[in-house]
Amino acid sequence: MTFEIKGVSKTYTSKKHGEKIYALQDINLTIETGKFVCFVGPSGCGKTTLLRLMEGFENPDEGTITDNGVLVTEPSSERGFIFQDYSLFPWLNVLDNVTFGLDIAGKPEEENKERAYKYLEAVGLKDFANKYPHELSGGMKQRVAIIRSIINDSKSLLMDEPFSALDVQTKHKLEEQLVNNWRGNDRTIIFVTHDVEEAAFLSDEIVVFSRRPGRIKKVFENNLPRPRDRSTYEFQDFVNEITKHIDESEDD
Ligand code: ADP
Ligand code: MG
Repeated sequence: MTFEIKGVSKTYTSKKHGEKIYALQDINLTIETGKFVCFVGPSGCGKTTLLRLMEGFENPDEGTITDNGVLVTEPSSERGFIFQDYSLFPWLNVLDNVTFGLDIAGKPEEENKERAYKYLEAVGLKDFANKYPHELSGGMKQRVAIIRSIINDSKSLLMDEPFSALDVQTKHKLEEQLVNNWRGNDRTIIFVTHDVEEAAFLSDEIVVFSRRPGRIKKVFENNLPRPRDRSTYEFQDFVNEITKHIDESEDD
């Protein structure tokens, strides 16, 4: 199995009043290798905190997280992470930014380029392959950064609301690309999102968080057949079922 999360708690000290904020309390979760798992829940419920602990950017106050049996204490190249702010290498063009990880991993260059072009085409950036980051709009840079993380072959990929700022069409295309890329290999994906429909489209499992302190409320298996179709009753029923368990009234 990939991740084993046992009895994890994390507190922060509020800057304003100096009081303790329980970001996460007693989280227990097992994530099997190759699963696509979505974290959903109201903002402030600890989704980002747990993802950061799983990467090893921070450590829990209590409890342990292991990745493939190894205690997570610091970031590892076995785990890719996509932040909400994106950064590209300014001295590389779009294509080289996208293939960077694959190239340094020694994968065949022609194949890397082919894969990169497929993604760039899907998000309308094929004609920008030879441009440099400073020649792109903010939205374009963001798409390039997302593609770069998706096509790298890390064993797991931790994604924090990566598509939340994109227009619906681009978002749907990237969701499809992400699923197609993930299917058939053993990569584990943990994907944080606000969007229940997105979680229903992508995931094998949906972990619903409740807040104050952040706890796991319920874990849903997603047995909708793939490839998925958002327009079916089955799909919409599942979305409604999940939504019922998310207490948006607590949202701020
Ligand atoms: P989510 O990603 O679900 O919106 P977060 O994990 O970002 O939630 O935050 C969970 C709680 O922890 C919130 O109350 C947030 O304000 C608090 N928190 C997160 N990071 C810090 C930090 N570095 N310092 C103080 N409080 C924090
Ligand atoms: Mg967050």
